Amino acid sequence: MLASTFLALLATAVQLYLDYARDVSELDEQFHRIEGAYVASIANSLWSMDKAQVELQLGGLARLRDVSFARVQGQVGEHFEVGEPPPAHASVRDFPLRAPTAPHRTIGMLTVGVDLDKVYRRLADRALVILATQAIKTFFIALLILFIVRQWVTRRLERIAAHAGALTTSTLGQPLRFEERPGSAPDELDAVVRALNEMSSRLCAELARRTEAEGELRRHRDHLEHLVAERTTELQEAKERAESASRAKSDFLSRMSHELRSPLTAILGYAQLLKVADPSGRPQDAAAINAIRASGEHLLGLILDLLDLAKIEAGKVEMLPSPVDVRALVQSVADIMRVEAEAKRLVLDVDAVDGLPPLLLVDGKRLRQVLLNLLGNAVKFTPWGRVVLRLRRLPVAGEDEAMVHLRFEVWDTGPGIAPADQRRIFQPFEQAGDGPRRGGGTGLGLAISQQLVRLMGGRELQVESRPGQGSVFHFELVLPVAQAPSASPLADVCGYAGPRKRLLVADDLPLNRQFLGALLQPLGFGIVEAADGEQALAKLVDERPDLVLMDMSMPGLSGLEATRRIRGLPRGDGVPVIALTAQTSQMTRQAALAAGATAFLPKPVQREELLSKIGELLGLEWIRATEQG
Ligand code: ADP
Repeated sequence: MLASTFLALLATAVQLYLDYARDVSELDEQFHRIEGAYVASIANSLWSMDKAQVELQLGGLARLRDVSFARVQGQVGEHFEVGEPPPAHASVRDFPLRAPTAPHRTIGMLTVGVDLDKVYRRLADRALVILATQAIKTFFIALLILFIVRQWVTRRLERIAAHAGALTTSTLGQPLRFEERPGSAPDELDAVVRALNEMSSRLCAELARRTEAEGELRRHRDHLEHLVAERTTELQEAKERAESASRAKSDFLSRMSHELRSPLTAILGYAQLLKVADPSGRPQDAAAINAIRASGEHLLGLILDLLDLAKIEAGKVEMLPSPVDVRALVQSVADIMRVEAEAKRLVLDVDAVDGLPPLLLVDGKRLRQVLLNLLGNAVKFTPWGRVVLRLRRLPVAGEDEAMVHLRFEVWDTGPGIAPADQRRIFQPFEQAGDGPRRGGGTGLGLAISQQLVRLMGGRELQVESRPGQGSVFHFELVLPVAQAPSASPLADVCGYAGPRKRLLVADDLPLNRQFLGALLQPLGFGIVEAADGEQALAKLVDERPDLVLMDMSMPGLSGLEATRRIRGLPRGDGVPVIALTAQTSQMTRQAALAAGATAFLPKPVQREELLSKIGELLGLEWIRATEQG
């Protein structure tokens, strides 16, 4: 529309210019006509001095089109004038008037003025008419175009848009159709609609393919899930079978050992009785009785060891650490073996380091069992010479004063163990050497000892030995220093002075939480419980406890990680956290402290140790039952 308007304007301008040029040339023709029709007759009248005739002729001239002014100026002063004097926009032409008899003689001048304003006005009027017609034409053409576009294009475009907008996966593939227009060939919009319909049906096909592929995938997945479920059930069944087999084995072992033990005790008892009852019996009888006794005792030892190993392997042996004077324990083990050593004329020495903390946290019964076994072997297998039980202290990583690193060694001057046997002897029922060296053992002692050292969190039981030069069995334990129970006489604490304190107890086992609650609530502590690390964090924020008792090993978010996150909380670095764990190794302890725990207590929790730590961290002043009473 703009372009056509512009073109129309351009055409109008050209037409106006042409009109102007024609008018200008018409002016020239006008002047020419005036020259032909008037100049000679006016010159005649002037020559004959006929004033009236001159004026008449001037009047005629002035009435010609566009002439606005005419004047005759005679050579001898005659002056005739008609019309207005020539305006600014006038084209003025002078015609010399010549004497009729002597054409070379000029007798006056005829001046004619044409008013150009009139010409311009005419031109402007014409331009106005042209422009108005053009505008009306353009308007109607635009209306017509709009109508046609609306009728043929817009309505169809709107339908295409509505159709495309309403396309969903369920309507895909339904084609868009316009009403038939008979006789008209398909146009561009029909092409667009055709392309749209084709695209829609292609998408529909693709969708169907995908749905089918998804279905296939789902079937595969279902099949896989089915398989997994089947395998899981099979595994579960196998596991249950294995568990029930292992339970049956344990049951069998414990029942059998019981069954075997009662007749064995009887055999042993009667063998002893026989020996005592008949001191004057035949020597071969005495030898037989001795053999019965020795075999019975061996059998009893075997049964007890087997039972022990079975328990360890079934994971039924739990370490029960308690404060132990390790030096005294070493000494007592040596004292037990001394009788046997002296009977063989062996020297038995104890070489225990001085200056250990009085009490260390360890399962004393199990430590004694390991040391007795090692020392027993040394005494048993050494025919002459010396056996030494040595206790050494090694430096602790990080110079942690709360931990003590111990190395236990059992030296002997016995036959030694061939390198090929040194690994084997730690397996159950494996013995080194030949008949006499086996010393009537069961071959289970070292296997049991090694498992026990592992359970105590120590460094592997190992042997260094060369045949003929004796053996050294050694292992290492890193043990926490235990507080002497008498050092903090908190046994009679029944409360504390000052405002009530709230403690957050985080432990996954309800029994442990109940135990701590039962221990602390009567003393006036408020207890907030959390069953895992996440809950502990949430309760810490919500309940703002004064102190946290955090079990380190919880499923999900562990106590270690929870402690680390507590320290990352905006006000989380102020609250003391006591880490609780059954794993008393130095590594666990250091990991807890590194995660941000304020203190570390081994499980099972000792009441006085716990109270002493809480009192210290919260600055409590305890109230004792004795003071009250
Ligand atoms: P047992 O002593 O009941 O045979 P152990 O498991 O305690 O069972 O020992 C396994 C084997 O290791 C012993 O039979 C013996 O051959 C060898 N052995 C253990 N201690 C010593 C030692 N101090 N000197 C030489 N051999 C040893």
